[in-house]
Amino acid sequence: MEPIITSPDPTDALSSVPAAGAGRGLPPTGRLRFFFGPMDCGKSTLALQIDHNQARQGRRGLLLVRHDRSGTPTISSRMGLVRHALEVHEDMDLCALVREHWSRGSRVDYVIVDEAQFLSAEQVDQLAELADDAHLEVYCFGLATDFRSALFPGSQRLFELADELNAIQVEVLCWCGRPGRFNARVHDGDVVRAGDTVLVADTVAADTAEVRYQVLCRTHYRTGDLGPHPVDDRQLSLT
Ligand SMILES: [Zn+2]
Repeated sequence: MEPIITSPDPTDALSSVPAAGAGRGLPPTGRLRFFFGPMDCGKSTLALQIDHNQARQGRRGLLLVRHDRSGTPTISSRMGLVRHALEVHEDMDLCALVREHWSRGSRVDYVIVDEAQFLSAEQVDQLAELADDAHLEVYCFGLATDFRSALFPGSQRLFELADELNAIQVEVLCWCGRPGRFNARVHDGDVVRAGDTVLVADTVAADTAEVRYQVLCRTHYRTGDLGPHPVDDRQLSLT
């Protein structure tokens, strides 16, 4: 005779799905997606396209942006599309933000976050919770690595938690013609490799006026070779 098992299945402790729901199949969950690429690869354009496609299905979205540089928070693409967005502040709890919308009677079916590299790890955890528990579809867009070629904290947490990782396929080219992968910080013609990560948000500050960013391939990021011609001004900003 088989022994009667009195202790719970030890693997239950690893499952986030309550045992009571097990017989009825897995409950629906949203998905946390991260779309990443170097600056100028079309992240904001894709964010707005996804918003448009979702809205056409009658779904309601919450558009968020971290470290918006315009003063009036928006998600804007180089193709001229603009949507208003909510600025995410450093200590903002994104779960509480969505609950607050619900309590006012506003539907939220999906969340789009631009400049998601600047989110804190805790805020990325909150987005995962919204996908799992509130069944929201969450779309994050951002840079993977900073000017030191190290992951931004928000991007690192997204790589750890996201259901889907999507490298944006619009190719940004280095001056040499190879795919550009690194966002080099350039000061007085030299590639800078140390300093404050979040200087990227402050490109208008007076003391950073000579700082610009240039997308380089790995070879030229490593060697610091910025090419024979100066880049145009479009690469002063970071989307
Ligand atoms: Zn190159």
